[in-house]
Amino acid sequence: MKVFHFSAECYPLAKVGGLADVVGALPKYQTRTGLESSVIIPYYESIRITDDFRSQIHESTLVLDKISYDVIIYKYADPDLGFDIFLVNVDSLTNRENVYGYDDDPKRFIAFQRAALQWILTLETLPDIIHCHDHHSGLIPFMMTKTVQFEALQSIPTILSIHNAQYQGSFGHELAVLLPQFETKYINLLDWDGLINPLATAIKLAWRVITVSPTYLKELQQKANGLEGLLTHESDKCVGILNGIDREIWNPKTDPFLYENYSTKTYKKGRKINKLRLCEDFGLDPGKPLFGFIGRLVWEKGADLLPAALEKTILTKDMNVFLLGSGLEDVEEQFKLLKKKFPDHLGLFIGYKEDLSHKIYAGADFLLMPSRVEPCGLNQLYALAYGCMPIVRRIGGLQDTVIDINDDGLGICHDEASVEDIVYSIGRALEIYNNKRRFSQIQKRMMQVDHSWENSAKQYASIYQTLTG
Ligand code: ADP
Repeated sequence: MKVFHFSAECYPLAKVGGLADVVGALPKYQTRTGLESSVIIPYYESIRITDDFRSQIHESTLVLDKISYDVIIYKYADPDLGFDIFLVNVDSLTNRENVYGYDDDPKRFIAFQRAALQWILTLETLPDIIHCHDHHSGLIPFMMTKTVQFEALQSIPTILSIHNAQYQGSFGHELAVLLPQFETKYINLLDWDGLINPLATAIKLAWRVITVSPTYLKELQQKANGLEGLLTHESDKCVGILNGIDREIWNPKTDPFLYENYSTKTYKKGRKINKLRLCEDFGLDPGKPLFGFIGRLVWEKGADLLPAALEKTILTKDMNVFLLGSGLEDVEEQFKLLKKKFPDHLGLFIGYKEDLSHKIYAGADFLLMPSRVEPCGLNQLYALAYGCMPIVRRIGGLQDTVIDINDDGLGICHDEASVEDIVYSIGRALEIYNNKRRFSQIQKRMMQVDHSWENSAKQYASIYQTLTG
């Protein structure tokens, strides 16, 4: 069975957050079970790859509102990845330094989707499944079923995975001219609340809708930035499947980014060395408990709650913190102020740094995740795999993957995204930290939890099977 995943991100070529990790892992595990699974992403300027594994496979022209753009599609076949990535270059539109954040993003992603479908039309063997991820490829099911240009693709089952429904990619109706020609009666399939909404369109038209955790699906049916009614209406085709983690990348035994590799046999020594070196590099005392935070500094992640919570705890609890992330300017400023105030207690890196994130999972004792919204969350899964205790708000995928130690689980859970709940949870964490023997036993159990992709990949396979008969 041939499966094409459409995505804006794919690790290791283009990563902004968890979407990249998922799209960079699921196809590998699918390929191993006998599917022919590959990924299609835009060719960003920031993707720097050599010709070793790259070959040009298609050249065409895309006409968007009477303007012609050159399209080149490359196949990137690095055997170490375990699946192929197709890179779609639409000149001047996809080849920008960043993945997102441009005023013409709607046009960029329409161009990406149209150019990729144009290429698919030319293939000798069409895919059996087209799997779209988030709103960036949300117009694919519409283009495949409601436009003349792509009607040859209309019987291919389409799936939408929702990794984050906060972002829906809406834009004004004036940009409808960028879409392939369609009968005006279909405009209602594109419209949601007066705008063209790619996520809503995909929810309406995809054959199946998958959220990245079961609890997130229930939450979205209550509250989804205006799409809750639609998701409830379409509930028969919706299902929540938890993400897994790629144990070939996220494994403390082999992770090349760590100061010291370790296993469930050597974790005490290994984690100690990682903490020591991380603290040395950032001027922190390794004798103190270390709390980490890694993530996009946005409202959803609750990062704005941390400065007040840490003000109340850093000195009184005599603890250290490591913050890694970037995003909202005022949160970044607050983090910098915190660093000035507690220079010996705070490690700070504003920006994106893959290797440092791995070092934090391996060196920190606890990972703070006070999220307001968390579709699945991967950080807590990486933390568990590395023996770093997650402190999470009970929400979305965090609720599905972290059970409180008082309920025989391996983490600390709180109900509210609030300063008070974070402070209280930090207090509970320190009680556990001070019981060295118990803490160490729990760390070992955390590392033994199986969150590998095999299980989730099976659930995807069974959906594909149902759709293709
Ligand atoms: P989201 O996709 O909402 O950002 P996830 O928990 O699903 O959150 O995935 C986040 C991924 O991005 C993890 O791999 C995490 O380690 C990584 N990450 C987030 N921020 C940074 C950063 N500043 N530097 C390095 N890695 C980061």
